[in-house]
Amino acid sequence: RAYNFNAGPAALPLEVLERAQAQFVDFQGTGMSIMEMSHRGKVYEGVHNEAASRLLNLLGNPEGYKVLFLQGGASTQFAMLPMNLLTEGKTAGYVKTGSWANKAVKEAKLIGETFVAASSEEDKYMSIPDVSNLVLPENAAYLHITSNETIEGTQFGQYPDTGSVPLIADMSSDILCRPFDLTQFGMVYAGAQKNLGPSGVTVVIAREELLTNSPKHLPTIFRYDTHLDNNSLYNTPPSFSIYMVNEVLKWIEEQGSLEGIEKKNREKANLLYDAIDNSGGFFRGCADVASRSLMNVTFRLASEDLEKQFIKESEQEGFVGLKGHRSVGGLRASIYNAVPYESIKALVEFMEQFQKKNG
Ligand code: PLP
Repeated sequence: RAYNFNAGPAALPLEVLERAQAQFVDFQGTGMSIMEMSHRGKVYEGVHNEAASRLLNLLGNPEGYKVLFLQGGASTQFAMLPMNLLTEGKTAGYVKTGSWANKAVKEAKLIGETFVAASSEEDKYMSIPDVSNLVLPENAAYLHITSNETIEGTQFGQYPDTGSVPLIADMSSDILCRPFDLTQFGMVYAGAQKNLGPSGVTVVIAREELLTNSPKHLPTIFRYDTHLDNNSLYNTPPSFSIYMVNEVLKWIEEQGSLEGIEKKNREKANLLYDAIDNSGGFFRGCADVASRSLMNVTFRLASEDLEKQFIKESEQEGFVGLKGHRSVGGLRASIYNAVPYESIKALVEFMEQFQKKNG
């Protein structure tokens, strides 16, 4: 197996891939692959419902929350959210933390009124802005945050308290990397392809009342109420991806649930950040220390030439995906839930060797 540091689609747990492989051709004695079955049949619906309830269970089963399995990626939620909730006379707040937050606000502006509640633009998005004392207008439909900026490598520590205004988070790149209090949120959504499974399905977890008032003029497929009323089976769901999400959720349970996952993620992130910080300035972390992400570790070398050399040599040694996003350059190691500690240990050893040769 490669040392996979891809930002997304990203590494999946080996155990999950192997179990899926064992069930691939004949799912539970049916003589069919799960992906060959009708989504209206009992077998598939069992898996579908199990994935939704497993997800809510991991989050403590708070009352009144529902799970939707949608398509079109988190990018579709950038539009679908304001289409459904940013209605006439309302405004939507966005915390501008970087590339993905900006894409979200851009879509909302096409639909209605928005305002910037906080921003770290002045800091080139290398930190999470202070959101401890936000004052939100009375007609705020919601406040949107990006809990983890995949490209810049920053992550919220504390979430803002928004009172009666629903807090909504794009958690695409850090969902289930640690426990969180779902009741602080009106809605969270995430494309599956980092911490939840393969691409093709987007998970929405929301308080039911936010899913029931879609404006009348909205086309059926873009309405949250359509998917709520039809148990995410209004049209053909990405059934194989949802099956894989269920398997990944089982794996998370086996890791000691979210507490166990967080412990492992902290060990992994500490190992890598320590290697950067203890390199005497040879490697330099990009994000502000207090805003560092547990999932995407961004760092630089003294020159772009040296970075190119690092990427080339790392690829020769079996490391995948260490090039920073094209919009910011540098280096990035995405160390999602499924990336094993051993991969990071190998990376740190490679970094030490590289520094010895070029330092
Ligand atoms: N939001 C965040 C934080 C992301 O990291 C990504 C993808 O990398 C997206 C949104 C876009 O997701 P999708 O490709 O599923 O539309």
